Amino acid sequence: MNVESYVRDIQDFPKKGISFKDITPLLNDAEARAFCLTTLKNSLSNVKIDKVVGVESRGFFFGILLAQEFNAGFVPVRKPKKLPFDTLSASYELEYGYDTLEIHTDAIQKGDKVLIHDDVLATGGTAKAVCELVEQLGGEIVQVNFLMELTFLNGKDKLEGKNIFSVLKY
Ligand code: IMP
Repeated sequence: MNVESYVRDIQDFPKKGISFKDITPLLNDAEARAFCLTTLKNSLSNVKIDKVVGVESRGFFFGILLAQEFNAGFVPVRKPKKLPFDTLSASYELEYGYDTLEIHTDAIQKGDKVLIHDDVLATGGTAKAVCELVEQLGGEIVQVNFLMELTFLNGKDKLEGKNIFSVLKY
């Protein structure tokens, strides 16, 4: 399947100079969605996954589907002040300033086999912060997967030692 045709480039979104990969056409097509889900799932054969961690907000879509496929728990990582229970936070650097992500402290148990999912790997700052949260709670990261990777931004460099998989590479 030509799944790339379900991702569209939006120029100057959310800021001038940025070409944004929009996955809403992909979400809106059952076959394209199924293709991505199967590809992500098949990249992990015969592995036990206890928890799937999805990153706010576009990481929630396939994160929850993957959790269902693996009969695993689903854990949302969210922007500050969205999660109601006790949280652990990780901050990471953006082009200008910092951003923070949070996870519930009871969402992952020590030794849990964890799959992290987000829609896009760009500079890798987001995924790195999520890995830190999971590891601080004692989770073992089995894979970090994405619908797409913007390879020219070298996000993989920030995730050294991690098993990374993307459906699409640009
Ligand atoms: P990073 O931290 O630079 O790797 O950026 C990754 C985060 O930004 C992910 O949570 C993505 O959802 C979001 N992101 C970055 N670029 C894009 C894009 O082109 N389309 C959709 N999301 C993006």
